[in-house]
Amino acid sequence: MSDSLPVFRYHADPIATGSIVSSPKVCRRCERRRGYIYVGPVYGDGELDEAFCPWCIADGSAATEFDAEFTDPDGVGDHGSWDAVPPDVVDEVSQRTPGFSGWQQERWWTHCADAAVFLGRAGRRELEERWAAAIPALMVEAGMEGETWRDYAAALDAHGSPTAYVFRCTRCGALGGYSDCH
Ligand SMILES: [Zn+2]
Ligand SMILES: [Zn+2]
Repeated sequence: MSDSLPVFRYHADPIATGSIVSSPKVCRRCERRRGYIYVGPVYGDGELDEAFCPWCIADGSAATEFDAEFTDPDGVGDHGSWDAVPPDVVDEVSQRTPGFSGWQQERWWTHCADAAVFLGRAGRRELEERWAAAIPALMVEAGMEGETWRDYAAALDAHGSPTAYVFRCTRCGALGGYSDCH
């Protein structure tokens, strides 16, 4: 039905994360029915929800023509609390990478002076089964340890609240991220 999806350096599998879904919708930018549509956040003028195909995000045309961003650039590196990254990396994440939906303003984890790869939302089960290596960084980010962390971690839910957002460093492979709640 469709070409394989474009490769996003900072969002490895946007179908698995739920940011891109199979859809018969026509893309607002290329006006073609590509079989997939982006359903994550869009910051821009007008009604741009579920408007773009992955190819028009990847090539930057959706961002350019609609003055749209898919992640707030201020959230990339989180105002300096994480590693600073070059402006072209901020542009690639905010303008040419599918975003993801968080409970609060989304933040894009950075490490080793690069934006990290978003792997997905995680609850207790996902952390235990796939991403246990992210736990130390999540604890630091949440400012919790011991019993407090254990209670909080037990409540983490990929589809509920609180939720963890897990990333992998492009350079050293470390896992990290943050969590929030509604
Ligand atoms: Zn398109
Ligand atoms: Zn790193």
